Amino acid sequence: MTPRPATADGPAEPLVHPPDRPTRLAPGGTNAVGYTLGLVSDEWNLLILRYAMAGARRYADWRDALPISHAVLTRRLAYLTEMGVFERTRYQGGNRLAYTLTKRGRDLWPVLLAIWAWEAAWVPVHVERLPRMVHRGCGREFTPVLECAACGRPVEPRDVAGAFGPSGSWSRSVPAASTRRRSESTGTAGMFPETMALIGNRWSAAILGAAFLGARRFRDFAQWLGAPPSIVSARLRTFCELGVFAQEPNPERPDWHTYRLTKKGRAFFPVAMTALAWGQRWFRAPEGPALVFTHRACGQDFHGRLACDQCASPLRGSEVLVESPS
Ligand SMILES: [Zn+2]
Ligand SMILES: [Zn+2]
Repeated sequence: MTPRPATADGPAEPLVHPPDRPTRLAPGGTNAVGYTLGLVSDEWNLLILRYAMAGARRYADWRDALPISHAVLTRRLAYLTEMGVFERTRYQGGNRLAYTLTKRGRDLWPVLLAIWAWEAAWVPVHVERLPRMVHRGCGREFTPVLECAACGRPVEPRDVAGAFGPSGSWSRSVPAASTRRRSESTGTAGMFPETMALIGNRWSAAILGAAFLGARRFRDFAQWLGAPPSIVSARLRTFCELGVFAQEPNPERPDWHTYRLTKKGRAFFPVAMTALAWGQRWFRAPEGPALVFTHRACGQDFHGRLACDQCASPLRGSEVLVESPS
């Protein structure tokens, strides 16, 4: 059964997020992009997942590893459990709770890997050193490369044509679960500082998404998003300061500008695509997907996968060894 959305007869039925099969979203409601952004736009969620992938299970594992308050950690663990990412079990005779990554949760590894790789390559300052990533398949330290699962060629944003699918629109893609408070931010000195500048709030994420879909002019961004011009110009300025966009004069009207993705901006594409792929695997709207992509070179529907830049093999989660820096 598909959950019923809010109607005159009453509020929406709560969605269930099973850990081992996709959520059936309500018709007309928040889509896969919104659910994905709700999770990845919060740095605490990413940090908790990073430690979970390294073996954290108990409340104390995260409390000891992170500068996190009781209230914030409790809320995040409850949220990630509700989202089907963790399964809560009891241990020590039922007195204590453990949080184990589910199939849905383990499936987030490409997103974390892509974020790590981008931060390591493009962001000079990190509070903690980022872990080294070794591919067991070839035994070498590697960088993940996004490639087309159909033809195996590496892809950049310009190689893929993307458009909203039947459940796609900006209004349905607004992050779900934005109940957190400003004071719960990890601040600017977290582990993924610039990732948060790009996807940590709805407008930034939407501007970046629009750029990946081909927006270049101020007017494109403002019209596509339906965002107030002041918000659009502030975000575009931030993206230029971060070196993710470069501003160029428009050949038709020199007093207007176009905004081009830089190499650093294009390098974030694997983060966006792995996160979207996870979302579309695990959150299904009855109307169909939120976004659809075609790989221009091979003409197939585009499904991204990460490959090892050293041996060119597609990566599997079990073959990625994450070593803490010594
Ligand atoms: Zn292809
Ligand atoms: Zn390899």
